Amino acid sequence: MTDSAPKIGFVSLGCPKALTDSELILTQLSAEGYATSKTYDGADLVIVNTCGFIDDAVKESLDTIGEALAANGRVIVTGCLGAKTGDSGGNLVRQVHPKVLAVTGPHATQEVMDAVHQHVPKPHDPFVDLVPPAGIKLTPKHYAYLKISEGCNHRCTFCIIPSMRGDLVSRPVGDVLSEARALFESGVKELLVVSQDTSAYGVDVQYRTGFWDGRPVKTRMLDLVERLGDIAAEHGAWVRLHYVYPYPHVDDVLPLMAGGRVLPYLDVPFQHAHPAVLKRMKRPASGEKNLERLLRWREACPQLVVRSTFIAGFPGETEEEFDYLLDFLREAKIDRAGCFAYSPVTGATANELPGALPDDVREERRARFMEVAEQVSAAKLAERIGAEMQVLVDSAPALGRKGGVGRSYADAPEIDGTVRLLPPQKASKQLKVGEFTRARIVAAEGHDLVGLPI
Ligand code: SF4
Repeated sequence: MTDSAPKIGFVSLGCPKALTDSELILTQLSAEGYATSKTYDGADLVIVNTCGFIDDAVKESLDTIGEALAANGRVIVTGCLGAKTGDSGGNLVRQVHPKVLAVTGPHATQEVMDAVHQHVPKPHDPFVDLVPPAGIKLTPKHYAYLKISEGCNHRCTFCIIPSMRGDLVSRPVGDVLSEARALFESGVKELLVVSQDTSAYGVDVQYRTGFWDGRPVKTRMLDLVERLGDIAAEHGAWVRLHYVYPYPHVDDVLPLMAGGRVLPYLDVPFQHAHPAVLKRMKRPASGEKNLERLLRWREACPQLVVRSTFIAGFPGETEEEFDYLLDFLREAKIDRAGCFAYSPVTGATANELPGALPDDVREERRARFMEVAEQVSAAKLAERIGAEMQVLVDSAPALGRKGGVGRSYADAPEIDGTVRLLPPQKASKQLKVGEFTRARIVAAEGHDLVGLPI
Protein backbone atom coordinates (compact mmCIF):
# COMPACT_ATOMS: atom_id res chain seq x y z
CA MET A 1 0.00 0.00 0.00
CA THR A 2 1.43 3.42 -0.91
CA ASP A 3 1.04 6.63 1.10
CA SER A 4 -1.00 8.07 -1.76
CA ALA A 5 -3.63 5.32 -1.56
CA PRO A 6 -7.04 6.80 -0.75
CA LYS A 7 -7.89 6.15 2.86
CA ILE A 8 -11.23 4.81 4.10
CA GLY A 9 -12.07 5.11 7.79
CA PHE A 10 -14.08 2.16 9.08
CA VAL A 11 -16.21 1.85 12.21
CA SER A 12 -17.74 -1.55 12.94
CA LEU A 13 -20.60 -1.78 15.45
CA GLY A 14 -22.85 -4.69 16.30
CA CYS A 15 -22.72 -8.44 16.67
CA PRO A 16 -20.25 -11.06 15.36
CA LYS A 17 -22.44 -11.42 12.26
CA ALA A 18 -22.00 -7.72 11.47
CA LEU A 19 -18.28 -8.19 12.06
CA THR A 20 -18.06 -10.71 9.25
CA ASP A 21 -19.78 -8.20 6.93
CA SER A 22 -17.14 -5.65 7.96
CA GLU A 23 -14.39 -8.13 7.19
CA LEU A 24 -15.78 -8.75 3.69
CA ILE A 25 -15.90 -5.00 2.96
CA LEU A 26 -12.42 -4.39 4.38
CA THR A 27 -11.04 -7.28 2.36
CA GLN A 28 -12.56 -5.86 -0.82
CA LEU A 29 -11.24 -2.35 -0.05
CA SER A 30 -7.73 -3.72 0.42
CA ALA A 31 -8.02 -5.85 -2.71
CA GLU A 32 -8.76 -2.70 -4.67
CA GLY A 33 -5.83 -0.81 -3.19
CA TYR A 34 -7.59 1.45 -0.67
CA ALA A 35 -5.91 2.04 2.67
CA THR A 36 -8.15 1.51 5.69
CA SER A 37 -8.05 2.82 9.22
CA LYS A 38 -10.09 2.65 12.38
CA THR A 39 -10.03 6.43 12.81
CA TYR A 40 -11.56 9.37 10.96
CA ASP A 41 -8.24 11.26 10.79
CA GLY A 42 -7.14 11.97 7.27
CA ALA A 43 -9.73 9.57 5.85
CA ASP A 44 -11.21 10.46 2.45
CA LEU A 45 -14.46 8.86 3.52
CA VAL A 46 -15.83 6.93 6.50
CA ILE A 47 -17.93 3.73 6.42
CA VAL A 48 -20.05 2.99 9.50
CA ASN A 49 -21.35 -0.58 9.81
CA THR A 50 -24.35 -0.26 12.11
CA CYS A 51 -26.52 -2.38 14.36
CA GLY A 52 -30.28 -1.95 14.67
CA PHE A 53 -31.23 -4.78 16.98
CA ILE A 54 -32.32 -3.05 20.18
CA ASP A 55 -33.10 0.57 20.80
CA ASP A 56 -29.80 1.20 22.62
CA ALA A 57 -27.88 -0.14 19.62
CA VAL A 58 -29.92 2.09 17.28
CA LYS A 59 -28.99 5.10 19.38
CA GLU A 60 -25.31 4.14 19.48
CA SER A 61 -25.29 3.69 15.70
CA LEU A 62 -27.05 7.00 15.02
CA ASP A 63 -24.69 8.80 17.41
CA THR A 64 -21.66 7.25 15.72
CA ILE A 65 -22.91 8.35 12.29
CA GLY A 66 -23.38 11.88 13.68
CA GLU A 67 -19.87 11.83 15.10
CA ALA A 68 -18.38 10.62 11.80
CA LEU A 69 -20.28 13.34 9.90
CA ALA A 70 -19.00 16.01 12.29
CA ALA A 71 -15.41 14.78 12.18
CA ASN A 72 -15.13 13.87 8.52
CA GLY A 73 -18.27 14.89 6.65
CA ARG A 74 -18.23 12.06 4.06
CA VAL A 75 -20.02 9.02 5.44
CA ILE A 76 -21.45 5.78 3.98
CA VAL A 77 -23.73 3.76 6.25
CA THR A 78 -24.24 0.00 5.99
CA GLY A 79 -25.60 -2.77 8.25
CA CYS A 80 -28.88 -3.57 9.99
CA LEU A 81 -29.82 0.00 10.85
CA GLY A 82 -29.50 0.95 7.19
CA ALA A 83 -32.48 -1.30 6.43
CA LYS A 84 -34.78 0.31 9.00
CA THR A 85 -37.65 2.64 8.23
CA GLY A 86 -38.29 5.74 10.30
CA ASP A 87 -41.56 7.23 11.57
CA SER A 88 -42.32 8.92 8.24
CA GLY A 89 -41.96 5.63 6.35
CA GLY A 90 -38.67 6.71 4.74
CA ASN A 91 -35.20 5.41 5.57
CA LEU A 92 -34.45 6.04 9.26
CA VAL A 93 -30.76 6.87 8.77
CA ARG A 94 -31.53 9.36 5.99
CA GLN A 95 -34.27 10.88 8.08
CA VAL A 96 -31.92 11.56 11.01
CA HIS A 97 -28.75 12.24 9.04
CA PRO A 98 -29.73 13.54 5.57
CA LYS A 99 -26.09 14.35 4.78
CA VAL A 100 -24.88 10.74 4.55
CA LEU A 101 -23.59 9.86 1.08
CA ALA A 102 -25.18 6.41 0.84
CA VAL A 103 -27.11 3.92 2.97
CA THR A 104 -27.28 0.14 2.48
CA GLY A 105 -28.69 -2.72 4.52
CA PRO A 106 -26.62 -5.60 5.90
CA HIS A 107 -24.69 -8.06 3.77
CA ALA A 108 -24.22 -5.58 0.93
CA THR A 109 -20.50 -5.57 0.14
CA GLN A 110 -21.05 -4.78 -3.54
CA GLU A 111 -23.44 -1.87 -2.88
CA VAL A 112 -21.00 -0.42 -0.36
CA MET A 113 -18.15 -0.76 -2.84
CA ASP A 114 -20.25 0.91 -5.57
CA ALA A 115 -20.87 3.84 -3.23
CA VAL A 116 -17.17 4.04 -2.35
CA HIS A 117 -16.19 4.05 -6.05
CA GLN A 118 -18.65 6.86 -6.70
CA HIS A 119 -17.19 9.13 -4.04
CA VAL A 120 -13.52 8.07 -3.84
CA PRO A 121 -12.37 6.64 -7.18
CA LYS A 122 -10.49 3.37 -7.19
CA PRO A 123 -6.71 3.70 -6.95
CA HIS A 124 -5.00 3.11 -10.31
CA ASP A 125 -2.73 0.33 -9.20
CA PRO A 126 -4.46 -2.05 -6.86
CA PHE A 127 -2.13 -4.13 -4.75
CA VAL A 128 -4.26 -7.22 -5.11
CA ASP A 129 -1.41 -9.48 -4.11
CA LEU A 130 -1.09 -7.82 -0.75
CA VAL A 131 -4.40 -9.24 0.39
CA PRO A 132 -3.89 -12.39 2.39
CA PRO A 133 -5.85 -15.35 0.97
CA ALA A 134 -8.07 -15.44 4.04
CA GLY A 135 -9.05 -11.79 3.74
CA ILE A 136 -8.81 -9.10 6.37
CA LYS A 137 -9.99 -10.08 9.83
CA LEU A 138 -11.00 -7.76 12.64
CA THR A 139 -10.63 -10.44 15.29
CA PRO A 140 -7.17 -11.41 16.62
CA LYS A 141 -5.37 -13.65 14.18
CA HIS A 142 -5.88 -16.85 16.15
CA TYR A 143 -9.66 -16.86 16.13
CA ALA A 144 -12.17 -15.97 13.45
CA TYR A 145 -15.90 -16.00 12.85
CA LEU A 146 -17.27 -18.02 9.96
CA LYS A 147 -20.71 -16.89 8.82
CA ILE A 148 -22.58 -19.80 7.20
CA SER A 149 -25.89 -18.12 6.37
CA GLU A 150 -27.77 -14.84 6.39
CA GLY A 151 -31.29 -14.10 7.56
CA CYS A 152 -33.78 -16.23 9.42
CA ASN A 153 -37.01 -18.13 8.69
CA HIS A 154 -38.38 -17.67 12.21
CA ARG A 155 -40.50 -14.80 13.40
CA CYS A 156 -39.79 -14.51 17.12
CA THR A 157 -42.11 -11.83 18.39
CA PHE A 158 -39.38 -9.82 20.16
CA CYS A 159 -37.04 -9.75 17.17
CA ILE A 160 -36.87 -7.62 14.03
CA ILE A 161 -33.86 -9.30 12.42
CA PRO A 162 -35.92 -11.16 9.77
CA SER A 163 -37.58 -7.90 8.73
CA MET A 164 -34.14 -6.37 8.29
CA ARG A 165 -32.16 -9.29 6.93
CA GLY A 166 -34.85 -11.36 5.23
CA ASP A 167 -35.36 -15.12 5.19
CA LEU A 168 -32.59 -17.67 5.58
CA VAL A 169 -30.05 -17.80 2.77
CA SER A 170 -27.39 -20.46 3.29
CA ARG A 171 -23.98 -19.89 1.80
CA PRO A 172 -22.84 -22.64 -0.59
CA VAL A 173 -21.20 -25.37 1.47
CA GLY A 174 -18.12 -25.42 -0.81
CA ASP A 175 -17.55 -21.68 -0.25
CA VAL A 176 -17.92 -22.06 3.50
CA LEU A 177 -15.44 -24.96 3.64
CA SER A 178 -12.95 -23.15 1.39
CA GLU A 179 -13.11 -20.10 3.62
CA ALA A 180 -12.59 -22.29 6.68
CA ARG A 181 -9.53 -23.91 5.16
CA ALA A 182 -8.08 -20.52 4.15
CA LEU A 183 -8.59 -19.27 7.69
CA PHE A 184 -6.87 -22.29 9.24
CA GLU A 185 -4.03 -21.98 6.74
CA SER A 186 -3.57 -18.35 7.74
CA GLY A 187 -3.04 -19.37 11.37
CA VAL A 188 -6.53 -19.38 12.86
CA LYS A 189 -6.70 -21.80 15.77
CA GLU A 190 -10.35 -21.37 16.68
CA LEU A 191 -13.21 -21.04 14.21
CA LEU A 192 -16.51 -19.71 15.55
CA VAL A 193 -19.43 -20.77 13.37
CA VAL A 194 -22.13 -18.07 13.39
CA SER A 195 -25.48 -17.38 11.72
CA GLN A 196 -28.97 -16.49 12.97
CA ASP A 197 -29.83 -20.21 13.22
CA THR A 198 -26.94 -22.60 12.65
CA SER A 199 -29.19 -25.64 13.05
CA ALA A 200 -31.27 -24.50 10.04
CA TYR A 201 -28.28 -24.46 7.68
CA GLY A 202 -29.36 -25.68 4.24
CA VAL A 203 -33.13 -25.68 4.87
CA ASP A 204 -33.59 -23.00 2.19
CA VAL A 205 -31.85 -25.10 -0.48
CA GLN A 206 -33.42 -28.43 0.58
CA TYR A 207 -30.02 -29.58 1.86
CA ARG A 208 -28.66 -29.43 -1.70
CA THR A 209 -25.55 -31.47 -2.44
CA GLY A 210 -22.56 -29.24 -3.10
CA PHE A 211 -18.96 -30.09 -3.83
CA TRP A 212 -15.77 -29.47 -1.98
CA ASP A 213 -12.34 -30.88 -2.66
CA GLY A 214 -13.84 -32.97 -5.46
CA ARG A 215 -16.28 -34.74 -3.18
CA PRO A 216 -20.04 -34.29 -2.72
CA VAL A 217 -21.14 -32.74 0.56
CA LYS A 218 -24.64 -31.85 1.64
CA THR A 219 -25.61 -28.32 2.64
CA ARG A 220 -26.60 -29.50 6.11
CA MET A 221 -25.41 -28.77 9.63
CA LEU A 222 -24.19 -32.29 10.40
CA ASP A 223 -22.23 -32.66 7.15
CA LEU A 224 -20.77 -29.18 7.47
CA VAL A 225 -19.68 -29.76 11.04
CA GLU A 226 -18.10 -33.13 10.17
CA ARG A 227 -16.04 -31.56 7.39
CA LEU A 228 -15.09 -28.54 9.49
CA GLY A 229 -13.95 -30.95 12.21
CA ASP A 230 -11.75 -32.79 9.69
CA ILE A 231 -10.13 -29.60 8.39
CA ALA A 232 -9.62 -28.27 11.93
CA ALA A 233 -7.95 -31.56 12.96
CA GLU A 234 -5.41 -31.17 10.13
CA HIS A 235 -4.44 -27.81 11.63
CA GLY A 236 -4.72 -28.72 15.31
CA ALA A 237 -7.51 -26.16 15.69
CA TRP A 238 -10.90 -25.80 17.37
CA VAL A 239 -14.40 -25.43 15.89
CA ARG A 240 -17.08 -23.86 18.11
CA LEU A 241 -20.79 -23.73 17.27
CA HIS A 242 -23.01 -20.74 18.03
CA TYR A 243 -26.78 -20.16 17.71
CA VAL A 244 -27.91 -23.77 17.63
CA TYR A 245 -31.55 -24.54 18.45
CA PRO A 246 -32.63 -27.68 20.28
CA TYR A 247 -34.04 -29.53 17.27
CA PRO A 248 -33.97 -33.34 17.19
CA HIS A 249 -31.40 -33.43 14.36
CA VAL A 250 -28.88 -31.61 16.56
CA ASP A 251 -28.67 -34.89 18.57
CA ASP A 252 -26.51 -36.26 15.73
CA VAL A 253 -23.84 -33.62 16.33
CA LEU A 254 -23.25 -34.72 19.94
CA PRO A 255 -21.21 -37.85 19.02
CA LEU A 256 -18.88 -35.57 17.02
CA MET A 257 -18.39 -33.53 20.18
CA ALA A 258 -17.87 -36.59 22.36
CA GLY A 259 -15.33 -37.84 19.80
CA GLY A 260 -13.38 -34.56 19.90
CA ARG A 261 -14.05 -33.50 16.30
CA VAL A 262 -15.69 -30.24 17.35
CA LEU A 263 -15.64 -28.56 20.73
CA PRO A 264 -18.19 -29.95 23.18
CA TYR A 265 -19.71 -26.49 23.50
CA LEU A 266 -23.11 -25.33 22.33
CA ASP A 267 -24.48 -21.83 22.32
CA VAL A 268 -28.25 -22.39 22.45
CA PRO A 269 -30.27 -19.19 22.85
CA PHE A 270 -33.20 -20.67 24.80
CA GLN A 271 -34.63 -17.24 25.86
CA HIS A 272 -37.13 -18.96 28.17
CA ALA A 273 -38.17 -22.39 29.39
CA HIS A 274 -41.92 -22.21 30.05
CA PRO A 275 -43.87 -23.59 27.05
CA ALA A 276 -46.50 -20.83 27.22
CA VAL A 277 -43.88 -18.05 27.19
CA LEU A 278 -41.93 -19.75 24.40
CA LYS A 279 -45.16 -19.92 22.43
CA ARG A 280 -45.82 -16.22 22.96
CA MET A 281 -42.25 -15.57 21.87
CA LYS A 282 -42.82 -17.85 18.81
CA ARG A 283 -39.44 -19.43 19.45
CA PRO A 284 -37.94 -22.07 17.18
CA ALA A 285 -38.29 -25.57 18.66
CA SER A 286 -40.72 -24.24 21.27
CA GLY A 287 -42.70 -27.49 21.09
CA GLU A 288 -39.63 -29.58 21.94
CA LYS A 289 -38.97 -30.93 25.38
CA ASN A 290 -35.87 -28.85 25.90
CA LEU A 291 -34.88 -30.08 29.35
CA GLU A 292 -35.11 -33.74 28.37
CA ARG A 293 -33.18 -33.09 25.19
CA LEU A 294 -30.45 -31.24 27.06
CA LEU A 295 -30.12 -34.02 29.64
CA ARG A 296 -29.79 -36.56 26.81
CA TRP A 297 -27.12 -34.40 25.19
CA ARG A 298 -25.22 -34.40 28.47
CA GLU A 299 -25.47 -38.20 28.62
CA ALA A 300 -24.13 -38.49 25.08
CA CYS A 301 -21.33 -36.01 25.81
CA PRO A 302 -20.67 -35.51 29.53
CA GLN A 303 -18.12 -32.74 28.98
CA LEU A 304 -20.69 -30.61 27.09
CA VAL A 305 -20.76 -26.94 28.05
CA VAL A 306 -23.95 -25.02 27.28
CA ARG A 307 -24.16 -21.25 27.02
CA SER A 308 -27.47 -19.52 26.61
CA THR A 309 -29.28 -16.24 26.83
CA PHE A 310 -32.68 -15.61 28.38
CA ILE A 311 -35.25 -12.87 28.64
CA ALA A 312 -36.88 -12.08 31.99
CA GLY A 313 -40.14 -10.17 32.23
CA PHE A 314 -41.51 -10.92 28.75
CA PRO A 315 -45.06 -9.54 28.34
CA GLY A 316 -47.54 -11.63 30.32
CA GLU A 317 -44.85 -13.60 32.21
CA THR A 318 -46.41 -14.75 35.47
CA GLU A 319 -44.49 -15.31 38.69
CA GLU A 320 -45.13 -19.04 38.19
CA GLU A 321 -43.72 -18.99 34.65
CA PHE A 322 -40.68 -17.14 35.90
CA ASP A 323 -40.15 -19.72 38.70
CA TYR A 324 -40.38 -22.43 36.06
CA LEU A 325 -37.53 -20.70 34.23
CA LEU A 326 -35.40 -20.63 37.40
CA ASP A 327 -36.07 -24.36 37.95
CA PHE A 328 -35.02 -25.06 34.36
CA LEU A 329 -31.80 -23.15 34.89
CA ARG A 330 -30.98 -25.20 37.98
CA GLU A 331 -31.91 -28.57 36.47
CA ALA A 332 -30.37 -27.95 33.05
CA LYS A 333 -27.26 -26.63 34.83
CA ILE A 334 -26.62 -24.06 32.13
CA ASP A 335 -22.88 -23.41 32.36
CA ARG A 336 -22.97 -19.84 31.09
CA ALA A 337 -26.27 -17.99 31.17
CA GLY A 338 -26.90 -14.37 30.33
CA CYS A 339 -30.19 -12.61 30.90
CA PHE A 340 -31.78 -9.42 29.60
CA ALA A 341 -34.71 -7.70 31.18
CA TYR A 342 -37.31 -7.60 28.39
CA SER A 343 -36.99 -4.37 26.46
CA PRO A 344 -39.38 -3.54 23.62
CA VAL A 345 -37.75 -3.21 20.23
CA THR A 346 -39.39 -0.72 17.88
CA GLY A 347 -41.26 -2.67 15.20
CA ALA A 348 -41.41 -6.00 17.09
CA THR A 349 -44.81 -7.71 17.31
CA ALA A 350 -44.27 -8.53 21.01
CA ASN A 351 -45.00 -4.86 21.70
CA GLU A 352 -48.66 -5.57 21.03
CA LEU A 353 -48.89 -8.51 23.44
CA PRO A 354 -51.04 -7.94 26.51
CA GLY A 355 -49.59 -7.98 30.02
CA ALA A 356 -46.54 -5.72 29.69
CA LEU A 357 -44.71 -5.76 33.04
CA PRO A 358 -43.44 -2.66 34.81
CA ASP A 359 -39.72 -1.94 34.36
CA ASP A 360 -38.88 -2.62 38.00
CA VAL A 361 -40.47 -6.10 37.87
CA ARG A 362 -38.52 -6.99 34.72
CA GLU A 363 -35.30 -5.72 36.27
CA GLU A 364 -35.94 -7.48 39.57
CA ARG A 365 -36.54 -10.80 37.76
CA ARG A 366 -33.37 -10.33 35.74
CA ALA A 367 -31.40 -9.81 38.96
CA ARG A 368 -32.99 -12.93 40.55
CA PHE A 369 -32.20 -14.92 37.41
CA MET A 370 -28.56 -13.83 37.45
CA GLU A 371 -28.22 -14.77 41.11
CA VAL A 372 -29.24 -18.36 40.33
CA ALA A 373 -27.21 -18.40 37.10
CA GLU A 374 -24.10 -17.37 39.01
CA GLN A 375 -24.61 -20.09 41.63
CA VAL A 376 -24.98 -22.74 38.91
CA SER A 377 -21.98 -21.45 37.00
CA ALA A 378 -19.78 -21.16 40.12
CA ALA A 379 -20.59 -24.76 41.11
CA LYS A 380 -19.66 -25.95 37.62
CA LEU A 381 -16.41 -23.99 37.62
CA ALA A 382 -15.49 -25.33 41.07
CA GLU A 383 -15.79 -28.89 39.71
CA ARG A 384 -12.92 -28.11 37.36
CA ILE A 385 -10.40 -27.43 40.11
CA GLY A 386 -7.66 -30.05 39.91
CA ALA A 387 -8.44 -30.89 36.26
CA GLU A 388 -6.01 -30.45 33.37
CA MET A 389 -7.35 -28.41 30.47
CA GLN A 390 -6.13 -27.33 27.08
CA VAL A 391 -5.99 -23.52 26.96
CA LEU A 392 -5.70 -21.28 23.90
CA VAL A 393 -3.50 -18.33 24.87
CA ASP A 394 -5.04 -14.90 24.08
CA SER A 395 -2.49 -12.73 25.83
CA ALA A 396 0.98 -13.43 27.20
CA PRO A 397 3.28 -10.44 27.65
CA ALA A 398 6.98 -11.29 27.76
CA LEU A 399 6.27 -14.85 26.55
CA GLY A 400 4.23 -15.49 29.66
CA ARG A 401 7.00 -14.93 32.20
CA LYS A 402 4.46 -13.10 34.35
CA GLY A 403 1.59 -15.33 33.24
CA GLY A 404 -1.13 -14.64 30.71
CA VAL A 405 -4.78 -15.07 29.82
CA GLY A 406 -6.37 -17.78 27.73
CA ARG A 407 -9.56 -19.75 27.28
CA SER A 408 -10.50 -23.41 27.50
CA TYR A 409 -13.08 -25.15 25.29
CA ALA A 410 -15.68 -23.92 27.79
CA ASP A 411 -15.13 -20.23 26.98
CA ALA A 412 -16.00 -18.49 23.72
CA PRO A 413 -14.11 -15.24 23.17
CA GLU A 414 -15.73 -12.01 24.34
CA ILE A 415 -18.84 -13.59 25.85
CA ASP A 416 -17.65 -16.22 28.37
CA GLY A 417 -14.96 -16.35 31.02
CA THR A 418 -11.21 -16.83 30.74
CA VAL A 419 -8.44 -18.92 32.26
CA ARG A 420 -5.94 -16.71 34.06
CA LEU A 421 -2.59 -18.37 33.55
CA LEU A 422 -0.03 -18.20 36.32
CA PRO A 423 3.65 -17.78 35.47
CA PRO A 424 4.94 -21.23 34.46
CA GLN A 425 7.03 -22.95 37.13
CA LYS A 426 9.46 -24.38 34.59
CA ALA A 427 11.84 -21.68 33.32
CA SER A 428 11.88 -23.28 29.85
CA LYS A 429 8.07 -23.07 29.46
CA GLN A 430 6.86 -20.18 27.35
CA LEU A 431 3.35 -18.96 26.56
CA LYS A 432 2.65 -17.64 23.09
CA VAL A 433 -0.46 -15.87 21.85
CA GLY A 434 -2.43 -18.11 19.49
CA GLU A 435 -0.86 -21.31 20.76
CA PHE A 436 -2.23 -23.95 23.07
CA THR A 437 -0.88 -24.84 26.48
CA ARG A 438 -2.01 -27.42 29.00
CA ALA A 439 -2.84 -26.03 32.41
CA ARG A 440 -3.79 -27.49 35.75
CA ILE A 441 -6.76 -25.63 37.17
CA VAL A 442 -5.94 -24.45 40.68
CA ALA A 443 -8.81 -22.08 41.50
CA ALA A 444 -12.05 -20.50 40.32
CA GLU A 445 -12.55 -16.72 40.54
CA GLY A 446 -15.98 -15.37 39.63
CA HIS A 447 -16.60 -16.35 35.99
CA ASP A 448 -12.98 -17.32 35.43
CA LEU A 449 -10.55 -20.10 36.26
CA VAL A 450 -6.94 -19.88 37.35
CA GLY A 451 -4.52 -22.34 35.76
CA LEU A 452 -0.90 -23.33 36.16
CA PRO A 453 0.72 -24.00 32.78
CA ILE A 454 2.31 -27.47 32.69
S1 SF4 B 1 -34.43 -17.12 15.56
FE1 SF4 B 1 -35.83 -15.56 16.33
S2 SF4 B 1 -34.49 -14.22 17.55
FE2 SF4 B 1 -33.16 -15.38 16.19
S3 SF4 B 1 -32.94 -14.08 14.37
FE3 SF4 B 1 -34.62 -15.52 13.98
S4 SF4 B 1 -36.44 -14.36 14.54
FE4 SF4 B 1 -34.71 -13.32 15.51
